[in-house]
Amino acid sequence: MSESSIAPALIDWHASQGRHDLPWQSDRTPYRVWVSEIMLQQTQVATVVPYYTRFMQRFPDVRALADAPIDDVLHLWTGLGYYARARNMHRSAVRVRDEFGGRFPQTFEEIASLPGIGRSTAGAILALSLKQRFPILDGNVKRVLARYFGVVGNAAERAVSERLWEFAEACTPRMQVDVYTQAIMDLGATVCTRRKPLCAYCPLATSCVARLTGRQHELPSPRPARVRRSRQVFMLVAMREDGSVLLERRPESGVWGGLWCLPEFEDTTAACSYIAQALQTAQSEPRALGRVEHAFTHFDLVITPLLTHCVGHAGVMDAAQSVWYNTREPARIGLPAPIKILLEDFASPTLFAGRAAG
Ligand code: SF4
Repeated sequence: MSESSIAPALIDWHASQGRHDLPWQSDRTPYRVWVSEIMLQQTQVATVVPYYTRFMQRFPDVRALADAPIDDVLHLWTGLGYYARARNMHRSAVRVRDEFGGRFPQTFEEIASLPGIGRSTAGAILALSLKQRFPILDGNVKRVLARYFGVVGNAAERAVSERLWEFAEACTPRMQVDVYTQAIMDLGATVCTRRKPLCAYCPLATSCVARLTGRQHELPSPRPARVRRSRQVFMLVAMREDGSVLLERRPESGVWGGLWCLPEFEDTTAACSYIAQALQTAQSEPRALGRVEHAFTHFDLVITPLLTHCVGHAGVMDAAQSVWYNTREPARIGLPAPIKILLEDFASPTLFAGRAAG
């Protein structure tokens, strides 16, 4: 099978075996495709669907997204992870409103100039929503092409990536580019999967190099393994008598950038000194609660919550970057998933008693 015959085989396969009822497949505007492509980065379709549906109800067009406070956007993103994606989407929406008159741009250069949109995402937006011929090379497509053409080496290496882009370009058809683009993404997600590719059901099986040479599990070549780190932090649960808990907005850069979180410290000494300086009305000796672990891509975060009770109506030094969050009447703000779960425990006296004993 030559490069030019891949598209017809995939388009045929897609008619009977591809996915046709995902929420972003109806009314395919550049805005709707853009939101889906960003959400699908590093995230499974099944996880994305309810987030996408809620997001579209709240922000049906790019203007609604641009006009919304960032906290509303991060709130709807809570639990989806990789929060830089949400911040970049909001920045992009503001630029579309202010620089493009509220109309999502329709050229590759303009789309790729927006924050958080790389070559593959820009290509997918144009191919899927406007049927413009641009190749894509997301994780699923990289895997299909690396196996089919027998490309050895990790895609993070420049030469390998360039080779894969050449194949992506050569395979992209002039006609039905939207169907082909969806088809190759679907094939990677449902048939040419990372662990157990279903070669017997694959329309490319007869000429796939990986299959013919029995190297499906060697291709694409894996990244060199990294040593997984573990990071220990302490987070202060400063609770007022009304049940509200102090949260601070995290810096834009770094883990959970821009989200609201419990104040974080390297050790208990730093936490105690913060209590003495910023929360004069709190108990000086915080009590350690059961640890919470959260896995990021490259490291594990181990959080020890430190509970302290504030007497009266305690204030804080930096009111602009702090909020007293009432766990029984939660505000619509962006919270990291493990912090949201921890705060939900505090809203339940029974659960809280159990955690405090741990
Ligand atoms: S034959 Fe197997 S390895 Fe090759 S593209 Fe199809 S599913 Fe992937």
